Amino acid sequence: MRNRIAGAPRGRGWSVRARILSSTLLVAAIGLCLSGGAAYLVQRDRTIGAIDERLESRVELARLVIAGGVTTVAADGSSHTHDFATATSAVHEIIARVLPGSNESALGIVDGTATFIPGVELDYKVEDDAAFVQRVVTELRTGGVKLGTAVTTVGTLRYIATPVSVTGDATRAIYVVTVNLDAELNDLNQVFSTYAVVALFSLLAIALVGWVVSGRLLRPIRELRATASRITATAIDERIPVSGRDDVSALADTVNTMLDRLELAMTSQRQLLDDVRHELMTPITIVRGHLELLDPAQEEEVRATRLLALDELDRMTGLVNDIEYLAETPVIAPDRESVDIAELQAAVFAKALAMGNHEWVLGESATARVWLDRARITQAWLQLIDNAAKYSPAGSRITIGTSLSGDSVQLWVRDRGPGIPAESRARIFERFGRVDAGRGIRGSGLGLPIVAAIARAHDGRVDVESSDSGSRFAIVIPTSADAGGYAQEEHG
Ligand code: ADP
Repeated sequence: MRNRIAGAPRGRGWSVRARILSSTLLVAAIGLCLSGGAAYLVQRDRTIGAIDERLESRVELARLVIAGGVTTVAADGSSHTHDFATATSAVHEIIARVLPGSNESALGIVDGTATFIPGVELDYKVEDDAAFVQRVVTELRTGGVKLGTAVTTVGTLRYIATPVSVTGDATRAIYVVTVNLDAELNDLNQVFSTYAVVALFSLLAIALVGWVVSGRLLRPIRELRATASRITATAIDERIPVSGRDDVSALADTVNTMLDRLELAMTSQRQLLDDVRHELMTPITIVRGHLELLDPAQEEEVRATRLLALDELDRMTGLVNDIEYLAETPVIAPDRESVDIAELQAAVFAKALAMGNHEWVLGESATARVWLDRARITQAWLQLIDNAAKYSPAGSRITIGTSLSGDSVQLWVRDRGPGIPAESRARIFERFGRVDAGRGIRGSGLGLPIVAAIARAHDGRVDVESSDSGSRFAIVIPTSADAGGYAQEEHG
């Protein structure tokens, strides 16, 4: 037999456990990154929006300063207000009056040079970054207010720059307010670094729990694989330990049931081979013995030996046919249909009548429909009837009947033959088990094992009652067979 289970191990990729775990982790990691990333971006946008509002309010204040003009106080104490004379003085006034808040800085640029800085303490200074000053000057060459982000020597800045001009003065003055973006986003960044650490720990926890749980769930499959690779033609008695009530343990259960059947089939196959070898030896020995002693010159002896050889060959043919049935029956599932028992009884009785030579009686008749394989049950029943005819005297009465008892139906045949001694009743169901050595009736000893196998295939059995005044053989089949679709109908 080709052993496909214990073949050389093929190169394997990732284990199922690793694949389950990696895909779970991948999905979890993508989920955590997407949710964290989206929340971060939304929060960052909000912060920048608030900064922009702050910057715009500074420009608004600058406009108010310019609109307010310059107030001069005369020697007599009277004061009057007039517009700024130069852009330089206007920027100076703005820098002096619009004070920067925290993380903010301001700058007055006159003719491309950083000229004014607030007199108050600043968190940082931007006037030293010539590149930034140059950038602002360039950006404002075409006029208009500019809101933007710049990477400078003091960090990333969000800034607003507005030109300051006074009628009659050609000086190009610019007022710049900046907010340190790095400092403003610091809190947000800290929250999200904490989120990243928590997410990382969550992934570790998922990996750990996933590894343990998938290992537990897949343990029966690992055991199944290990057991399957241990099982060979000679060690098929091992079974996979089943624990729990989930799909995987159901699989282990199914494989165990399959192994049961496999073991049964292999054991009975081996037994059958032994029995067949033993049984075929007898006719072979007989024919060989006669042929060896045969004198070909003796015509009468040749004729007698020919007849004997043919007779033995006929017996071997019958034996081979029976063996074929017996080999098939345990493995072929019955082809069940709903059968009317009374109608089956009538059909079988008609066949029995054709055997002649006895007083055939149609006995008790049960009214029921049973889910069974009509052809196989007919074959088994006729085998019992054939035995009854074979082993009971010619002309004696043989009754064929059916009856219902409990949740099973009995298909029986009763004869008035010599009966079967109590000590032999178990043996007649064994292959080649015969009791009639002294009765001079030929047979293979395979008839009853075939009947028993057919009954077993229907979850049933064969019952025997026997005394020296006759025997009753019955095929007992449960009517509540869970073969699906069964329905018993009693008709009174
Ligand atoms: P075979 O009839 O070919 O010998 P079976 O398996 O049909 O094989 O029967 C086994 C034995 O059981 C028979 O040899 C016979 O001794 C006994 N037996 C079977 N049926 C009857 C019966 N109706 N009456 C008496 N003996 C029987």
